[in-house]
Amino acid sequence: MLQGSDHLKPPNPLKSSPLGKIYQKSTVEPQYGDPVPPRRPALVERMRPFTSTIFAEITALATRTGAINLGQGFPDTDGPAVILDAASRAIHGGQNQYPPGPGVPVLRAAIARHQQRFYGLDVDPDSEVLVTAGATEAIAATILALCEPGDEVVTFDPVYDSYAASIALAGAVKRTVTLRWPDFAVDEAELRAAFGPRTRVVLVNTPHNPTGKVFTRAELEAIGALAREHDAIVVTDEVYEHQVYDDAVHVPVATLPGLGDRTVTVSSAGKTFSVTGWKVGWLHGPAELVAAARAVKQFLTFVSAGPLQPAVATGLDLGDDFYASLAAALQGKRDLLIEGLTAAGFAVSVPRGTYFVVADAAPLGFADGVELCQRLPELAGVAAVPVSVFHDDPKAAASLVRFAFCKRDEVLYDAVERLGRLASLV
Ligand code: PMP
Ligand code: GLN
Repeated sequence: MLQGSDHLKPPNPLKSSPLGKIYQKSTVEPQYGDPVPPRRPALVERMRPFTSTIFAEITALATRTGAINLGQGFPDTDGPAVILDAASRAIHGGQNQYPPGPGVPVLRAAIARHQQRFYGLDVDPDSEVLVTAGATEAIAATILALCEPGDEVVTFDPVYDSYAASIALAGAVKRTVTLRWPDFAVDEAELRAAFGPRTRVVLVNTPHNPTGKVFTRAELEAIGALAREHDAIVVTDEVYEHQVYDDAVHVPVATLPGLGDRTVTVSSAGKTFSVTGWKVGWLHGPAELVAAARAVKQFLTFVSAGPLQPAVATGLDLGDDFYASLAAALQGKRDLLIEGLTAAGFAVSVPRGTYFVVADAAPLGFADGVELCQRLPELAGVAAVPVSVFHDDPKAAASLVRFAFCKRDEVLYDAVERLGRLASLV
């Protein structure tokens, strides 16, 4: 209520400053009809470019239109029953409270065994492994732990969307090396130019989403040599480590000579065991780097997915036949989709890893991949993701679109049949 004596009070200097307008609690009760004071936008500036993700947008579009969703990369079948049963046993067996901060010991031990078995890496499960809420948190915690504001992070465009957001959250600066259609090879001159005195991290992703590129040993060695020269840390996202085709070989960065002591390796159960919703990921590396990431992670989620962690341990210990049949089945799906896309009139870059195919829509008369992906559900009943949204320079991938092939064969057949009608519509 307005007091009769209010006009006699000395003026409050803060009330006339811009900050005061926003924050100073008025001593005068607001009246109905008073102008609403201007407010600063809710979201901090550094996160404003990241208000939604392309995956969420395309999945919403696919759901709205009933299109086959080859946009967001998630499988449409469950992983091995033995893993699901192990999770269910853990839930019913009382493992439902906070797990230990670094992750349950059986999972940390299984991660160490997995790295030894597949790559010959010696990893101490107690000091060199951290279980996280998916690879996403592993990357965020590592970047936030390692980067001061203004430090630089070298990345490879097209880049997985969460990297840019994590770098922005840290107040760090993204430096970009562009991988170009159709083979997405690393240009050594561009790579060298991306490094400088403020380089703190180089963030690699092999096999690479969205291109399906598997970095060659020579490319990784060139990256490693520059990391050593600039005393930078390599953070390597290897979530598609078991989705590699033909004669391609996944080379974990940590196995390269002289890089183990400066590399943080990230992976996740989501892709390997078809449980993307579980969000069980991990990182491993030298104890000092893992401790740094752990310090941040404990204040992001503290812990997560308690009963799912022992189930993922069961998965990691599955026999070689499981891993071989995963890759073989996906390679068949890849070939099916590539054949269909080619027949439909797209130009295709054959992926050697991941479960994504990048196709060029220009031969079909579509110069703009974003526009095509907006129209594709209505034109053909299929959803896909434009590649240009993963680029600082959208022109580098203007007419490229990404299709996911981690779907049942009948769904892929249906999708390619629908896409086959595209040429006659344009
Ligand atoms: N990195 C890459 C390259 C990815 O494609 C994804 C999404 N699957 C992630 C990280 C995130 O993994 P997670 O769901 O385990 O957080
Ligand atoms: N990694 C998945 C993809 O690339 C999507 C994950 C997400 O929706 N954030 O499609």
